Amino acid sequence: MFEPFYEVINNVSKTVLKYEKEQGRPVVGVMPAYFPMELIDAAGGYAVQLWGNNLPLGKSDAYLQAYCCSVARSVLELELIGGADMVKAYAFTSLCDTLINLREIYKMLFSKPTLELSIPITRTKEARRSYLKRVIQSVVEGLEKVTGQRITDDSLAEAARVRGRTRELQQRLYRLRRERPGLMKNRGFYAAIKAGFFLPPTVYNEMLETLHAGLNGLKGQDNKDPRLVISGLVFDPIEIYGILDELGVVVVDDDFANGWRTVSKGELQVGDLVEGVTEFLFDPAPCCCIYNPDNDRHPYLVEKVKRAGADGVLFWYIKFCEPDAFDRPQMVGRLEEEGIPSATVDVELSMTSFDAIKTRISAFCEILEG
Ligand code: SF4
Repeated sequence: MFEPFYEVINNVSKTVLKYEKEQGRPVVGVMPAYFPMELIDAAGGYAVQLWGNNLPLGKSDAYLQAYCCSVARSVLELELIGGADMVKAYAFTSLCDTLINLREIYKMLFSKPTLELSIPITRTKEARRSYLKRVIQSVVEGLEKVTGQRITDDSLAEAARVRGRTRELQQRLYRLRRERPGLMKNRGFYAAIKAGFFLPPTVYNEMLETLHAGLNGLKGQDNKDPRLVISGLVFDPIEIYGILDELGVVVVDDDFANGWRTVSKGELQVGDLVEGVTEFLFDPAPCCCIYNPDNDRHPYLVEKVKRAGADGVLFWYIKFCEPDAFDRPQMVGRLEEEGIPSATVDVELSMTSFDAIKTRISAFCEILEG
């Protein structure tokens, strides 16, 4: 059932080149996170999400410090070695200082256009809207220049419908995993989510519909395997899910920026685009990179664990990600107050040895089982 998704994530360049040719749309590389890809679709572009890769890092060392996260370093590496030649432009958000600076590096080194959806850091909804109004206007104009096509009300409504359907199908997959633990292998689940980063949404939606049809009627496993919620920015390296599967760990929910924090978003409201994008960026799931005092991550994570019937939380720390590191001590403290055990694994996207992580997760499972 999951083979088509593995086929995509194991052959990313081939996949993107195939659909670029078939659809005749310019590829726009989307950097983490929360850029509303509906805007790219509506402008006639082909959005491909870049959440990092497992390239060995070399050339990027000349521009980014070794203590930058492997997400930023590996996407820069990809461009520097010519692995992203099909990408015609890049779309950034101002998610963190690293990405803000990365865009400056791209502007300095490459001739490809870069767009930035700058996310405001402000308390009130009115201030967010008034700031975003200008930003969205400039992003729309930038996209239209890249693709040579105008964004119309109709193209925007169609894009919102299709992407809304994608997230609805993904939300159903998350619900199934929560309600029938063990129904899907952890690795297969994340392969299915990851494939969506590289496919045109209509193609991806069809694959998800087929997957749902295959899962229909299948049962989960009613056993005592440890059940975890995982929290972090990026759910790679996907190899670690193979270890979790091997150890009999069942991931019942997650709090990843490229997992549930994105999947949970509803259909983009395009009637009032500024209002729609504001809501899209700030709700419903809280994120360590988004300042939203009305949406506290602490009770949110506790509630998520309880709702999923999880035994504990695994913090999946992409090394040197500052926003994630700054929040974690308080998150761990809050879980402790609630009697919810947690552990942290440090990961890098380019890592090739997983023995230490296996030992760490295995020890955590023993604590949970004990
Ligand atoms: S992993 Fe963290 S530091 Fe790196 S790009 Fe994402 S939010 Fe920024």
